[in-house]
Amino acid sequence: MPDRHASFAAVAADRADGSTEERAAPAEAIRRVRVLLPLPLPEPLDYLAPAGCAPLPPGTLVRVPLGRRSLVGAVWDHAGDGVAADRLKPIIETLAAAPLRPELCRFVDRVAAYTMAPPGLVLRMVISVPQALLPQQPRRLYGASAAGIAALADVRPDRRLTAARRRVLELLRDAPVQPAAELARRAGCGAGVVRDLIRHGLVAEQLVAAEPAAAAIPDWRHPGLALSSDQAAAARSLVARIEAGGFGVTLLDGVTGSGKTETYFAAIAAALAARRQVLVLLPEIALGAQWLRRFRERFGVLPLEWHSEVTPAARRDAWRAVATGRAPVVVGARSALFLPFAALGLIVVDEEHDPSYKQEDGVCYQARDMAVLRASLAGIPIVLVSATPSLETVVNVARERYRRVALPRRHAAAELPAVRLVDLRRERMEREHFLSPPLVAELAATLAAGEQALLFLNRRGYAPLTLCRACGHRLQCPNCTAWLVEHRFTRRLLCHHCGHAEPIPPLCPECLTAGTLAACGPGVERLGEEVRARFPAARTALMVSDLLSGPRAAAALVEAMAERRYDVLIGTQIVAKGHHFPMLTLVGVVDADLGLTGGDLRAAERTYQLLHQVGGRAGRADRKGRVLIQTVMPDQPVMQALASGDRDRFLEAEAAARRAAGLPPFGRLAALILSADDGESADFAAQALSRAAPQLPGVGVLGPAPAPLAVLRGRHRRRFLVKAERGVRVQAMLRDWLSRVRLGGTTRIQVDIDPYSFL
Ligand code: ADP
Ligand code: ZN
Repeated sequence: MPDRHASFAAVAADRADGSTEERAAPAEAIRRVRVLLPLPLPEPLDYLAPAGCAPLPPGTLVRVPLGRRSLVGAVWDHAGDGVAADRLKPIIETLAAAPLRPELCRFVDRVAAYTMAPPGLVLRMVISVPQALLPQQPRRLYGASAAGIAALADVRPDRRLTAARRRVLELLRDAPVQPAAELARRAGCGAGVVRDLIRHGLVAEQLVAAEPAAAAIPDWRHPGLALSSDQAAAARSLVARIEAGGFGVTLLDGVTGSGKTETYFAAIAAALAARRQVLVLLPEIALGAQWLRRFRERFGVLPLEWHSEVTPAARRDAWRAVATGRAPVVVGARSALFLPFAALGLIVVDEEHDPSYKQEDGVCYQARDMAVLRASLAGIPIVLVSATPSLETVVNVARERYRRVALPRRHAAAELPAVRLVDLRRERMEREHFLSPPLVAELAATLAAGEQALLFLNRRGYAPLTLCRACGHRLQCPNCTAWLVEHRFTRRLLCHHCGHAEPIPPLCPECLTAGTLAACGPGVERLGEEVRARFPAARTALMVSDLLSGPRAAAALVEAMAERRYDVLIGTQIVAKGHHFPMLTLVGVVDADLGLTGGDLRAAERTYQLLHQVGGRAGRADRKGRVLIQTVMPDQPVMQALASGDRDRFLEAEAAARRAAGLPPFGRLAALILSADDGESADFAAQALSRAAPQLPGVGVLGPAPAPLAVLRGRHRRRFLVKAERGVRVQAMLRDWLSRVRLGGTTRIQVDIDPYSFL
């Protein structure tokens, strides 16, 4: 509704003009401005401000020369005196886009300081859409002319009105003016049809001022589902937090299917009622078609999306809409955290434990943690949501830094599924078959009852290893320390680390024998084969990222499963997330031990989270669910916890073990990954770094050691792991260490604070 819209935008605009706290600068500093550029430089560069203009407030977006190029950057602080004033180059222009708000500038500085990334690379994530910073061109929109409406209404045959032209006019009769491309798309015709209509005077062009496209305003007064008493209590508590204002972290801790989404929708409604913007972070956002639908059911419109599938034009509009406060709700992947919100009032991090929140390359940051930082800088509440919260978050609740709001029961009559461990050491397994007799029996029973099953195996492809039966040769990636994985659908061998692909060779490349290459172990493709062989009548589908063209295709598959067009879904971790299939009653975990190998300190925690999440897909409606977990380690605490459902005891044991070992969240970790074009240079640099290693109380340096992925994309890698007590200022220590070592040639060092991957 227009009135609400106006008031929202007005409040947002109020906030958007930013604070004036830093405007008054000493007179002689006015001419010199520091500009942060989106480049890996250690700090901002100095430029000359245009003569006679008012001082440029920090955050102002400007275009400046650099070498032969010109670049957009942001005015940073007023300090700086490195370069003599007469050698400074002047700023080329000040952009029309609103300055970045002080809170966002501080966020950039703090993220850079924490992750030890150059601040310019963090800024680059903020101004990731250069087109959004340019002045907007007027938009050409099209509407039906009076003649067009008359022609539609006329019952006499009209040769001008072909079926396609009629569809376009009908669309326009009931809708506001729109771009030609959009019209053609919706009418299912080519752009030529719209042009013809214009030529006949049936459609008229309008030039519309370049206002950012206003996102539709969610109707927060629209009542949601009637909440259960648990849900209502949790919602009241979240809403109270928002109404109180100020920074605060709340964990919404609810079992799978307890209605966490519906509950935090109440918090979103409260933030919208206060005319504030909301950011919802989701892992692998584009898979969230079900989430989007539920949002629309609750609020009447779709939120703005921000993720890799959004087109450049939509990104540009989205960036502007966020910056001008016209986008009330943004749902996005981790990069949405760097959007220039005008009036952010609430952040929600759904599935806060999800490992995909950790970005591993470029700026290595943990989006959940940085979301908490952003909320604290903005002075707003943040809600972390999970059925299996991370140990970091659980410990923060125990330390009373975070509040906890719980939903201990599934919604309505749904019960949590019964979990059973299948000890693979005791089962008679056929060679190169991966379904145990108990799982086969359960599958048969499920199919006989007309219900659906989900088989989970976290491994893409057909087989993880291909081996020559004659000479024992194993097919390995030429660029990495990794086996090549057979992908039978695409008939290729793939490296899952660098993307190297080659055809499956007809002969063993080593002994040149034909027909001796054998697949070892299961991938989802092979599992699918086994299921189809055993249950030829069952309709099976594979859900794995490399067989889907993109998140939209994944969403279509989810839809088909929800509509029971498949009986058995076989997939990797993308099936674990958030999906709700009412008729799904059986979940089979084919190899529960996969994630437990390797030296990852979070291996047990992650296995618990992932398998609990997968199991949580079973029995979400009125039919009771069953989960079978195949393992060779049924006595492992994590398997025991999955079977008993005693999450908190598992977390306590996990916490005790980490505390004893001084591991996060009780101690701090940082990884240094050194890489070079050849092994010798890597070793040489590693030795130099090792000699300069800090020797401080409370700090331990492990390494150098060849990384488990000793060669990745042809780069030879060595790792150091720094372990420090919680009080140690790790970044300062690392900065000092690195400053004492000069690296030559092709050698590079990547710093990963709070690493999640140890490969
Ligand atoms: P969670 O995110 O905790 O796993 P969901 O929010 O997905 O749970 O809710 C599980 C299912 O229960 C969804 O289909 C949801 O629509 C339904 N549901 C949850 N709360 C309610 C409610 N108060 N009234 C009706 N249906 C509900
Ligand atoms: Zn490789």
